[in-house]
Amino acid sequence: MNAALDEDEHSAPGTALRVWAEVDLAALRANVAALRARIGGAALMAVVKADGYGHGALACARAARAAGASWIGTATPQEALDLRAAGVDGRMLCWLWTPGGPWREAIEADVDVSVSGMWALREATAAARAAGRPARIQLKSDTGLGRNGCQPADWPELVAAARAAEAAGLAKVTGIWSHFACADEPGHPSIAAQLSVFHEALEAARAAGLEPEVRHIANSPATLTLPETHLDLVRTGIAMYGVSPVPQVGAPADFGLRPVMTLRARLAQVKRVPGDHGVSYGHLYTTPGETTLALVPAGYADGIPRHASNTGPVLVAGKWRTVAGRVAMDQFVVDLGGDSAQVGDPAVLFGPGDQGEPTVEDWARACGTIAYEIVTRIGARVPRVHLHTDDDGSGSQAVTGVSDPR
Ligand SMILES: *Cc1c(COP(=O)(O)O)cnc(C)c1O
Repeated sequence: MNAALDEDEHSAPGTALRVWAEVDLAALRANVAALRARIGGAALMAVVKADGYGHGALACARAARAAGASWIGTATPQEALDLRAAGVDGRMLCWLWTPGGPWREAIEADVDVSVSGMWALREATAAARAAGRPARIQLKSDTGLGRNGCQPADWPELVAAARAAEAAGLAKVTGIWSHFACADEPGHPSIAAQLSVFHEALEAARAAGLEPEVRHIANSPATLTLPETHLDLVRTGIAMYGVSPVPQVGAPADFGLRPVMTLRARLAQVKRVPGDHGVSYGHLYTTPGETTLALVPAGYADGIPRHASNTGPVLVAGKWRTVAGRVAMDQFVVDLGGDSAQVGDPAVLFGPGDQGEPTVEDWARACGTIAYEIVTRIGARVPRVHLHTDDDGSGSQAVTGVSDPR
């Protein structure tokens, strides 16, 4: 049985937490297995940027590796270096570079580095020369996203220069890759257009003499809905965390995925108030009659969007409630109506949904954003309680970031 849901459901043993994010690593491993089952012989990159979308990068990287993720992906080089320093080995790619590196540190840590233009190739090869070993480079093509990546017009120069760097012993081009703009909208015409530009970029690289190990373009939505994009490697972030990247196409369970994060809190106060009583800053909510208010000790400093004011859902005392009034920095209120609760009772903001709690998609809808943003912005002040840290099915857990949970 899932330790997250058994008898000690609402407390992290040995601690008295205010608000905390349970991270079910058994679910994460099962999600990686479910994704791998979809991609045939392709490899899977576990994307753990932004502290593993708020779930804890190190624990998630280890769990993903245990489930067969052969690559780890981060945005920034520092994220990759931090994982290396914590003992995560194996193939790793980071892609968001600015002038100055740290190229040499990444090369010496055996991290593959993404290069989107000539300035980056120059810096990477200079660092390789200083390090006395070739940089493992993945060239990024802008096939239409219009964000990071090399434009088709500049691609011939970049691949030729990369080939010359290989010949000089300063680089090995390990990958050629790109990123979709609209993979979460199946049928969008940009998808086929980007794939076609990508195949042209691959052909130009081949003609220039490059022989990359991996060619990749698929993110989570493409992994789930566009098998023709899987190529050698898929880069999955949000799906690995059990969140659907295409909610209009299917919920996580429709893809065999289970949400990894459950955000829990304990009521900090419960009190009777008279009717017509204003609640929280600005009095955006007024009690319709005498009622019971419960105080949830989590606010926008913990990543609860202020846009959830008067709309965010939360399970308290057995029912869905709605945030009453403004979300403040550290707390918000719910109106229990005629129901009762005790101080210290559980509140579940979101979770897998099978215990009656809202899901992260419900929060995204309530706040006019996407589920990615809800989980990723859970604040540094919220401890992550990692459940099932071991692969053997034991109920082990580790609490991180509990410097001052209260
Ligand atoms: C974040 C990111 C991914 C993962 O995207 P998901 O939709 O979360 O799977 C893949 N590739 C790049 C370049 C990214 O920045």
